[in-house]
Amino acid sequence: MNFTINTTQKQELLDITDKVNEILQKSKAKTGICNVFVTHATAAIIINENHDPNICIDLLNALNKSFPDNAGYLHDRIDGNAGAHIKAAILGPGETIPIENNKLKLGTWQSLMLVELDGPRTDREIQVIILEQN
Ligand code: ZN
Repeated sequence: MNFTINTTQKQELLDITDKVNEILQKSKAKTGICNVFVTHATAAIIINENHDPNICIDLLNALNKSFPDNAGYLHDRIDGNAGAHIKAAILGPGETIPIENNKLKLGTWQSLMLVELDGPRTDREIQVIILEQN
C-alpha cells in the first residue's frame, strides 16, 4: 500500500502517523511490524516528538547548521541539492514500527514524520508494508 503527499515548503516535517494508522486499520493486522519507506533521495522518514512543533524546527536548524548548503559539494554542479541528499541520507528513508492492537505502537511523545528536504514537491511517495504476526 502506498500514498503520496504534496509538500509546500523547501524544508518541513509532516506528521503521517494518522495516515499510516488508517492504512493499518484497513489491513486488520493485530500484531506485527509496519515498515514505512519514502522512495526519494531528498526526503526522509523519522520518528520524533511533534507535541511541541518547535522540535521539528530545532531538528531542521540543527541539520542545516551541521550540514550547510553551498559548501562546495560536487553534486551541486548537477542540480544544486547536495545538502538535501546528505541530510536525507543521515536521517534515512524509512522506519519500522511494532503493531499492537491494530495500531502503531508508538510512545506518548513519538510521531511518525515525513521530512521534506528539497521541496516543495508534488507526489512524494510513501510505501507502507505491513507484516502480520500470527
Ligand atoms: Zn540531486
